[in-house]
Amino acid sequence: MRPRALITATIALTTLVAGATVPAQAGPPRPTEPPKAAVAVGYGGAVSTVDATATAVGLDVLRRGGNAVDAAVAAAATLGVTEPFSAGVGGGGFLVYYDARTRQVHTIDGREAAPASMTETSFVNPATGRPYAFDEARISGLSAGVPGTLLTWQDALRRWGTRSLAQMLTPAARVAERGFPVDETFASQIAANQAAFGQFHSTSALYLPGGRPPAVGSTFRNPDLADTYRLIAKRGTGVFYRGEVGRDVVATVQHPPLATTPVGTWPYPIRPAGMTMGDLADYRTRFPEPTRSDYRGLQVYGMSTPSSGGTAVGEALNILERFDLRSMTPAQAMHHYLEASALAFADRNRYVGDHTSQAVLRELLGDAYAKERACTIDAAAALPKPVAPGVPDGAYGGCSTATVADTRDDRKSTTNLTVADRWGNVVEYTLTIEATGGNGMVVPGRGFLLNNELTDFNFAPTQGTAPDPNLPAPGKRPRSSMAPTIVLADGRPFLAVGTPGGATIITTVLQMLVNRIDLGMTLPEALAAPRASQRNGTTQAEPAFVTAYAGGLPKGHTFSETAEIGAATGIEFLPGGRFVAAAEPVRRGGGAAAVVDRWGRN
Ligand code: GLU
Repeated sequence: MRPRALITATIALTTLVAGATVPAQAGPPRPTEPPKAAVAVGYGGAVSTVDATATAVGLDVLRRGGNAVDAAVAAAATLGVTEPFSAGVGGGGFLVYYDARTRQVHTIDGREAAPASMTETSFVNPATGRPYAFDEARISGLSAGVPGTLLTWQDALRRWGTRSLAQMLTPAARVAERGFPVDETFASQIAANQAAFGQFHSTSALYLPGGRPPAVGSTFRNPDLADTYRLIAKRGTGVFYRGEVGRDVVATVQHPPLATTPVGTWPYPIRPAGMTMGDLADYRTRFPEPTRSDYRGLQVYGMSTPSSGGTAVGEALNILERFDLRSMTPAQAMHHYLEASALAFADRNRYVGDHTSQAVLRELLGDAYAKERACTIDAAAALPKPVAPGVPDGAYGGCSTATVADTRDDRKSTTNLTVADRWGNVVEYTLTIEATGGNGMVVPGRGFLLNNELTDFNFAPTQGTAPDPNLPAPGKRPRSSMAPTIVLADGRPFLAVGTPGGATIITTVLQMLVNRIDLGMTLPEALAAPRASQRNGTTQAEPAFVTAYAGGLPKGHTFSETAEIGAATGIEFLPGGRFVAAAEPVRRGGGAAAVVDRWGRN
């Protein structure tokens, strides 16, 4: 990889305020997007998100003395406005937090939960006895889980923040009200969902004005969402989990807001489902212990179940630690990365779900187990895929390479952010509504989309005669791949990274860590480098990965090319309180990294 120049940037919040940069002309001035950069180096705190406006909001909170948790919540709430097809109060997510005072890593599981009415066969069509097609399940009430995002924000602020939820919702409400410029990504995400969005009066009124996506460059406003944020700011989260916003969520799931004159056609019936106010009232965030894996002297902390992110990344790292990647050619190192990832995915698919026991999770993250798994890797050839899962039973020594029918894939939406403050606190937060556009239903009058997270359950058993850990059940949370990760060196932050991308999240986080820790790339290089995702089948790869590495890989690798994988953010912590904040230079239109003070005056 050729080193990329480090570009520094600060982002002026003033550009969010209408008028600041617009020449005098008739009509109200238009808000503009703050300038953005993929890399920022400096002091005083750092923010990286996929969106310049969200980064600017987070940075402003840090500048005014808020801490990393405050800034993360304000930025996430803003992403709910500017990245509404990926995240928002209609969805869920996972937050990992390093507390500088106690030097502890904590997590919040704000994953959506299945309503009490869900059963193991909820995604099987009773008329045919077969699982629904993905889109048939997605665009329905059935796919919507009880949202966890708002409680995640509140709980994070109450435990570790210094500002109120009301304060941290205010900038996002302002952005929703004043509007922001429609960019390519925003318009194309609507266009890709046009047929689904067009079925609902609420969604088409917001996102298909005049029957088509808003023009690139036009100002997009969401006054209903501004009002929803302000209502929550005034009355608290009870208005969502026990009050009128919740009633509207439930009504949307039970009676999808079908348009009398749909825009376009949709090939499936749109089914209601049984989420109730009781389901909303019963929802709780959880605070699981983070996963931990020690890798080449570093401590890697991640997200435990119901995400498989922490265990899969951790297991793959434990496998990789048994090889000296630094002494290999980059292509050989990538071979081992791909193989370790396939092995970890076989185990993830077999063993990891919301109800996996702590004992199994401990075994999956144990070095003895990694040793048994690592011995199956052949330096001279790729293993035939799919590889079989191992047996994490505490009795190790064998080296099984049998293949097994496996795999089902997740799609890609979601968003990620990384924030650090001047006191050394760090937040890595991945939040989502699952597919781009969630279940397609904007809650009428409230301005946000519902998630389709429950389609992350397996619709039917995938593990042959072995139990499937990820079948639906009442109150259960679907298995996720989200992998917000904080890496410590001697107990102090070294690196924080995360990304969207469905199941490719696990491989992207793993690859960024290998790139940075083993291949000697800087963090911005590690993010920008071409990606490949091996999930126990054909390797999905960006064309540049195939060009860079395929010639040097041993035999047996097969690739399917895909334009881009993930949209990562990260921060590296340098000596003396210096930060390197990094975002995507190109993928998904490029992200926005910023530091509070790039000259180190703080
Ligand atoms: N629903 C996915 C998960 O939890 C994330 C979707 C995405 O990133 O696109 O793993």
